[in-house]
Amino acid sequence: MHELSLAQSILSIVQQAIPPQQHERVRTIYLQIGTLSGIEIDALTFSFDIIKESSPFALASLDIEIIEAQGKCNGCGTLFTYETYGTPCPRCGSFSIEIIRGKEMRVSGIDVD
Ligand SMILES: [Zn+2]
Repeated sequence: MHELSLAQSILSIVQQAIPPQQHERVRTIYLQIGTLSGIEIDALTFSFDIIKESSPFALASLDIEIIEAQGKCNGCGTLFTYETYGTPCPRCGSFSIEIIRGKEMRVSGIDVD
């Protein structure tokens, strides 16, 4: 399950960012997840809740911000909301689109009590 390994990598990011003596005091992990990342939010929070129980982060929860994907047309330079792969440029109809954002999953912040 893809989301299980994601949840594990989130915990290892937090583990490296926070000194060990503060691990049990981590309360909130802020994530930014792009709409094109392919990540199932429900599956991710479910996986996270399972693996955190056997880690020092049992009291931590995820706070997820969804990042709307944006595309830039390589033909005319128009920026637009890129909802699904294969969407043409709304201005010139070109399919040559550079995805500016929306594929990412990142830890944007960590709250320690
Ligand atoms: Zn265009």
